[in-house]
Amino acid sequence: MNVSNSKQSFYTGLASNLELMREQGLYKPERVIASRQGAEVVCDDGRTLINLCANNYLGLSGDESMVRAAVETTEKYGYGLSSVRFICGTQTVHKQLEQALSEFLGMEDTILYAAAFDANGGVFEPLFDEQDAIISDALNHASIIDGIRLCKAARYRYAHNDLADLEAQLQAAADKRHKVIVTDGVFSMDGTIAQLDKICDLADRYGALVMIDECHATGFMGATGRGTHEHHQVMGRIDIITGTLGKALGGAMGGFTSARREVIAMLRQKSRPYLFSNSLAPAIAGASLAVLKRLSDSTELRDRLHANTAFFRSEITKLGFTIKPGTHPIVPVMLFEAQLAQQFAQRLYELGVLVTGFFYPVVPMGQARVRVQMSAAHSTEQLTRALAAFAQAGHELGLLKNEGK
Ligand SMILES: *Cc1c(COP(=O)(O)O)cnc(C)c1O
Repeated sequence: MNVSNSKQSFYTGLASNLELMREQGLYKPERVIASRQGAEVVCDDGRTLINLCANNYLGLSGDESMVRAAVETTEKYGYGLSSVRFICGTQTVHKQLEQALSEFLGMEDTILYAAAFDANGGVFEPLFDEQDAIISDALNHASIIDGIRLCKAARYRYAHNDLADLEAQLQAAADKRHKVIVTDGVFSMDGTIAQLDKICDLADRYGALVMIDECHATGFMGATGRGTHEHHQVMGRIDIITGTLGKALGGAMGGFTSARREVIAMLRQKSRPYLFSNSLAPAIAGASLAVLKRLSDSTELRDRLHANTAFFRSEITKLGFTIKPGTHPIVPVMLFEAQLAQQFAQRLYELGVLVTGFFYPVVPMGQARVRVQMSAAHSTEQLTRALAAFAQAGHELGLLKNEGK
């Protein structure tokens, strides 16, 4: 191959792989939204849709209170830092947010990152080495998998949510110096809540640490919204929590790790996404601080979210749809076949409801679904309209159990 052919083949190779993805229905197009994020959004084609697919659990992403808090913080602290934290990128607002997150989560200390992806990417390598074992749920988030890959510790994987297999892996790792069990607090495709009470009992028995990724939990799981550890009443028994500012807590971006003081101190010294990437924008730090204050003062948003979830889960089941049972605001409406999930999502779009179809390889083969996500911002009227659209599309596509096929 001559030099110019070699370069040409790089581009034609990409183009044909993209074409193949389109043919196989695996290509992910992006809807373009022309409004703020919210219970309803306006798309660039001018259509207003009820939004049932954002991680906007508390309804804060487009909320005026967040905009005000971000503007006020920007006026005080400026737009950006042009520095990493340890050079000249730490402001009082960053320290205040770290302290507020620690208090909210019931942990000693917290370190901020540009994203939870970075928190997970930078948590393992500074803390564990070849003498240690990381024992990870098979369905953990991609960022946990990547973070583990960057670390020299021995890797053990247990079958999803399977405590017997977790115990078998703890036994297999018995001769390792330190062991850490890692799990998503809530799994994003099913809304499954990790069995943290039982995981903590096993960890105690085998002398293991426990780490949880709380991206789909912080702000609304548990009686006062502190997360899955509160939900399962194991606050104080979790060693490391990672989470995001990019979902329930306002939805801009940013992530964090919370743990004992010495863990956070070591991460500040050695965690590469912290050392080598820019400080969180002050606007995000200030607005996140305002959210934590609001959530500490009142459980109103969290309560509204759970009321909406109970209402939607009950009504959609009455209509004759099959959902994954549970209590989390992630409500997987099962279509099983990939094409049907796409058709259903498209028909709902035409009927004014925004949902996304998920199919293999994102979920197991034959488990295609639309993943509905509730928000505290949805009114009962909006949910009722969305349910009517589900009923109509379900009827047209012959999906309703009550109606037969
Ligand atoms: C969304 C998510 C992340 C990534 O969060 P970002 O802050 O957007 O990087 C990590 N882990 C889990 C479980 C998530 O759902």
